[in-house]
Amino acid sequence: MAEEQGLIVDEDEVNELMENERELSRKARLAKLAEGKGSKDLSVSAEQTSHLEKELKLATTNDDFKYFLDDLVEYSLKAKVQAIYHSREVGFVDSCSVDSEMVGLVLDRTSFYSESGGQIFDTGLITGGDSVFEVHDVQCYAGFVLHIGKILSKGSGINVTDEILCKPNLSRRSDIAKNHTLTHVLNLALRNTLIKPDSDATIGQKGSFLDETKLRFDFSFGKALTTSQLKSVEDHCQSVIDENLTVYTEVSDLKEAMNIATLRAVFGEVYPEKVRVVSVGAPVDEVLKDPHNAQYWENSIEFCGGTHLKNTGAAASFCLLNEEGIAKGVRRITACTGQVADEAIALGNNLKCEVDKAGNLEGEELDTAIKTLTASVNEADMSAALKAELRDTLQVYSKKLVTFKKAQEKKIISEVLNDVGETVACGKSSVVYRKDFGINGKLSKAILTGVQKKYKSCNMMLVSADSEDKKLFLGAMAAANKDQARDCQEWLKSAMGGYEGRGGGKKNAAQYTLEAPSNESLDSMISNIIQNAN
Ligand SMILES: [Zn+2]
Repeated sequence: MAEEQGLIVDEDEVNELMENERELSRKARLAKLAEGKGSKDLSVSAEQTSHLEKELKLATTNDDFKYFLDDLVEYSLKAKVQAIYHSREVGFVDSCSVDSEMVGLVLDRTSFYSESGGQIFDTGLITGGDSVFEVHDVQCYAGFVLHIGKILSKGSGINVTDEILCKPNLSRRSDIAKNHTLTHVLNLALRNTLIKPDSDATIGQKGSFLDETKLRFDFSFGKALTTSQLKSVEDHCQSVIDENLTVYTEVSDLKEAMNIATLRAVFGEVYPEKVRVVSVGAPVDEVLKDPHNAQYWENSIEFCGGTHLKNTGAAASFCLLNEEGIAKGVRRITACTGQVADEAIALGNNLKCEVDKAGNLEGEELDTAIKTLTASVNEADMSAALKAELRDTLQVYSKKLVTFKKAQEKKIISEVLNDVGETVACGKSSVVYRKDFGINGKLSKAILTGVQKKYKSCNMMLVSADSEDKKLFLGAMAAANKDQARDCQEWLKSAMGGYEGRGGGKKNAAQYTLEAPSNESLDSMISNIIQNAN
């Protein structure tokens, strides 16, 4: 566990974090349910489940059928309505119709998966007679599975004791299964990447959540993963998909199953006497016969009640999107599979192409490309390893650009010194000079001091426009020879005329930044200023 690696995990902090997240997701779910349908509380109290059990003498819902769906695509399970839940305030009612708000159906059996073990609930339809009930959420309370939703069609409605058909959305379920199986594979890939082969240490599982679009896995580890670790974890997961491994599931005795040396169990979790073992690539009965065999280090073996793929190949693709710290000693990985991963991989490849192409650019073009690409890469839902790699490449480009900019600035300085030199040679002691390089304090200062040093009797005013932001820089420096020096503050003030600016200075040097008034162009403003200055 974490402690074995010398890490200190603040269990309270982690538990609080998880609890907060559960509460947030519960609230979000209820808010979604309540959209335009009032704000009923459809959570079930312990009193109400006890009412179902003791007063109505109902057996809990048999939900074993949730595991059989993969075999039977057109399968719909016959079941009976045992109770209809109106709300926490009202409790149970006998019937519901198209006019009812959201209600919860309790069935004797179901093929819907209720949210548990980090796997999101199924959605789908329940049909009965001429009524179609849309299932938005499925939760289990003390063994009673509540199918929360609303009747869509006008008809006779659904009553207690009605026979109905359960039809979970199987394509969504299959996307969920891809993410669940790959969460297990990711758990193993992390262990194999981050822990030395002979070490007894392990990666402590701190929580997981997955739905049809993504998977999230929290684990104890002391520091951020490096780019090469991220890449190795990602490659490991993809290789397990490419190997088309069978996923075996079997219910076993806890005592016997606990002997499996390579088992990825959750530390501190209390398991029932019978546990469902999910093994990727190794038949569970063979593993149980030889539980210490080191060859099984290469197989993901976990206790899990979730719904899984039959074969890892069905996941098609895996993309590790993000890795971050969420609490002291706890990291979180977000990833995706299937079509979502294909899209993330394609996006990453496109960006890589663009970044590679930008390598041929120089100067302004490179500058623009770096800005645009950095924003695109930062925003993209793409492989975290590739993202880090592209950021590194863009950094290299930025360094190249610094060298280019320095050379360009040198060129500007010598150009201005030349021009000012010619004016000074004509006998002028005050020069107003426009050179548009945007707002660049360092360069402006270098130009002004350069002039002051080289032409001792010259007072210099510099104007530089930033046409994109409609701003301009205005700076002045007095002649080095005291008897020829002008008052720069006064000079700038009179040049600015009625324009407002931010800045200031002293007699011998001053500067302002001005913004063009919205009704005036920057160019006409500058010509006014230059006219005033001369
Ligand atoms: Zn699982």
